[in-house]
Amino acid sequence: MDENGKISASGKAKSKFDKELRKAIRSNKITVTLNITEKNDTEDETGRHYMIVGQYEGSRIENGIIQASQSINLNHAEIWNRAGGSSIGLSVKHEIVEAFIGGKKFPGVGYTDANYNTAHNIVRDLEGRQFIPQHVEVRTPTQTQFYLIGNNGENLLLYTVTK
Ligand SMILES: [Zn+2]
Repeated sequence: MDENGKISASGKAKSKFDKELRKAIRSNKITVTLNITEKNDTEDETGRHYMIVGQYEGSRIENGIIQASQSINLNHAEIWNRAGGSSIGLSVKHEIVEAFIGGKKFPGVGYTDANYNTAHNIVRDLEGRQFIPQHVEVRTPTQTQFYLIGNNGENLLLYTVTK
């Protein structure tokens, strides 16, 4: 990564996932902005979207360039890894490629559940087989807690939202 935050790639990309990451890095038509956040949600005109690790936030077109946005919470990524999910590095790669695919498939379109899920599912397919921790939401009248179910069946608290 250079002083402007631009990532470059060298060596041969082997997997489909690495090839797509390389396209994202080299593209001059789509720019990906990955927001590192400590928040548990993203918010836009359509409302508040609670995150599990990361989330696609849509794209806009500026001067003919597709600007795709994505967020990642690295604390979530660490808990995800502890639950048996992918490494923090792989989660970062996942979010970069998800934004790139979202921008490519839905240029100039803001967040929707559908475009987020489409981009996310394509990345999942590219990543190949790995343990995916399921998440559960436990709601009481005063709060909602988001848990990950680990590979040993344990519950790991991701975060609590109080009302
Ligand atoms: Zn995703």
